[in-house]
Amino acid sequence: MAEYVRGAPEVAVIRMCNPPLNAISDVTLRALKEKVKHANIDPTAKAVVICGANGKFSAGADIKGFSVGIQKDTVSMESVVALIEKSEKPFVAAIEDIAFGGGLELALGCHYRIANMKAQVGFPEVTIGLLPGAGGTQRLPRLIGVPAALDMIVTGKYVPATEALKLGILDEIVEENPIEAAIKLARRISGQPLGPRRLSLKQTPQLPNMKAFLSEALLKVKKQAPGCLSPEMCFRAVEASVYLPFAEGIRKEKELFRLLFTSGQAKALQYAFLAQRISEKWILPNGASWKTASPQPIRKAAVIGLGTMGQGIVVALVKAKIPVVALEKDKKHLEIARKAIKACLERETLRMQQKGKTLDIHKAKLLHFTLDFGALKDVDLVIEAVFEDMVLKKEIFCKLSEVCKPEAFLGTNTSCLDIDEIASITNRPQQVIGTHFFSPAHVMKLIEIIHGQHTSPTAIATIMKLAKIMGKCGVLVENCFGFVGNQLLNSYNEQTYFLLEEGSTPEEMDKILEEFGFKLGPFKVSDLAGLDVGWKSRIGQGLTGANLPLGTPPCQRDGKRYSPLPDVLCEQGRYGQKTGKGWYLYDKPGGKTAKSDPWFHNFLQNYRNVHNITTRTITQEEILERCLYSLINEGFRILSEEIASCPEAIDTIYINGYGWPRHKGGPMFYASEIGLPQILRKLQKYAEANPDIPKLQPSPFLQKLVTLGSPPLKNWPSLVRAQQNKL
Ligand code: NAD
Repeated sequence: MAEYVRGAPEVAVIRMCNPPLNAISDVTLRALKEKVKHANIDPTAKAVVICGANGKFSAGADIKGFSVGIQKDTVSMESVVALIEKSEKPFVAAIEDIAFGGGLELALGCHYRIANMKAQVGFPEVTIGLLPGAGGTQRLPRLIGVPAALDMIVTGKYVPATEALKLGILDEIVEENPIEAAIKLARRISGQPLGPRRLSLKQTPQLPNMKAFLSEALLKVKKQAPGCLSPEMCFRAVEASVYLPFAEGIRKEKELFRLLFTSGQAKALQYAFLAQRISEKWILPNGASWKTASPQPIRKAAVIGLGTMGQGIVVALVKAKIPVVALEKDKKHLEIARKAIKACLERETLRMQQKGKTLDIHKAKLLHFTLDFGALKDVDLVIEAVFEDMVLKKEIFCKLSEVCKPEAFLGTNTSCLDIDEIASITNRPQQVIGTHFFSPAHVMKLIEIIHGQHTSPTAIATIMKLAKIMGKCGVLVENCFGFVGNQLLNSYNEQTYFLLEEGSTPEEMDKILEEFGFKLGPFKVSDLAGLDVGWKSRIGQGLTGANLPLGTPPCQRDGKRYSPLPDVLCEQGRYGQKTGKGWYLYDKPGGKTAKSDPWFHNFLQNYRNVHNITTRTITQEEILERCLYSLINEGFRILSEEIASCPEAIDTIYINGYGWPRHKGGPMFYASEIGLPQILRKLQKYAEANPDIPKLQPSPFLQKLVTLGSPPLKNWPSLVRAQQNKL
């Protein structure tokens, strides 16, 4: 787990070995401590180099070890870093490729740091609900100052070697092997005084306006992820480095680390991190999987329909440096899209430059706008994003069959239509796949990848790989109406309308759900996305509009409760932000600031009177539980029908596509933390009070899990399979 070798006469090399990324497990740490102690007493070693095996320094603490909890008998990372720093012999960190988390803390304990050009350093702990707990929050500000240290520790961002050199984190960057360079440096500096190189002995550099700077920074941190503790605790730890001596700062860091570790949020965030990795490992019932299928390269793509979604998808592809043919139906729409895409790309280029990355769209000739389907003849993938209309989509896919080369993959961005029906019109159903992006598509991380009956494993592997290349996360789901995310969302939205009818308000419900952790409450989301989107879909399903059978009771469909409230708003032209009014009022069409609308409240009261609905005071508890538990209930149904392969997939979808607060781990994780018996009990209570709302009837799978004693979430998929085998 750590080797001790001779690098040169009088230079010892300690090499951490825990492939593939030299994660610092308890065993690695013990071995490291032993080698550091040995180096300190080895009379033949005058200087020491620390490096990692296999061309990597270290990815930091082993996340798997976190589940064990803080234990008394484990070696503390902080004590090893302190041991290195206190050494009378110079220690040089030779950073190859990565020094993250504990890896960077170790490097900061060393007296000098050298890295290769492509190395990156960072403290990602905040993203898994923790803070750098081995002195990192005290040493880094002493080395590079509070603003730069806060920026790194509070956001968890990775800093490339060139920037780390400028900041002063690194002493040198080299083209060649940094271990060789570190050995040379170790020989050169051996015998020089180490006092000035010990970060614990330094003062944190002061700013003339430190107090004001910190209060402003804290406001920003609080906005970063409302309700999430780790960014603020990271801030508090760095703040301690300003006002407290080093030893006291370390005590504060420990105290804050413990608080985070036991908060429950760290567990949820670590689960969310691992859930995404689990979701990437797709497997089909026929045994084909991520292990066996080979992705094909996408050298050139096309996007058809350059509206809200198409524009974002084009930008996302260009950002991934994939050449795109962008196609519209007429000149007017093409020109509108060209302008919008250009403006968006300029903003993105600026943003990427600020992060030290480059994107030169003109030089790389990445974009070609056209009205001509003939321009699609050599693309490897088409993503269709025209209106949500089966007839139109089939027309497009029929044309694609004719013009695209036989090996091209055909993706559709439909939100809910049947992938098999779309595929049936083509000459290559095995290459047709759902690629469901989320708005804005160049920002949102999720792509729900839907496989139809005939979709090949190669097509799945290709789109999963493309998602990665685009910096997104692809989650594979089964083909069904609304797929996974929108089915859960419908359940949640339905409750919000019913609760509105029963006496609540958009303002009250948005506040309650934002306090829970959603960035935006359901009514603000609805105004942002456009009420007309759901309305068109409901018209298509015959739930409202001209196809609704005469004599249908206004608040019932097929004997179940139905709220016509959003339909009525749409009939009045209230589509949300785009028309300047929806559930809220905006200062103009396209306005962003939601204001309470007296017209709407008056309308709501009339609506209740017309439909004879008696209002009552609804508790915050009922609002939260009916909205969240009905969504969770739908999750159990989706799992039992194997539309999603595992709870981790549902959680990854909901966190990355629907704004579920990451520090609450996703709806299925949240359910397992609340306790399944409690969810079941509450659903039973609400179902009894509302027998005409089937989505509140507890899912048989949830009931079964409770009967089985609430097994852990990771066992749920095998229980679904066992159930299927019995049938
Ligand atoms: P939109 O109305 O903003 O854009 C559709 C575009 O398609 C328009 O610019 C239109 O001119 C173009 N178009 C229509 N017919 C065409 C044709 N024959 N050839 C070329 N272009 C044509 O719609 P949108 O919101 O971008 O939705 C597109 C698709 O994405 C839909 O299937 C929708 O369900 C889905 N979707 C939308 C969202 C969302 O939030 N808006 C999210 C996920 C998925």
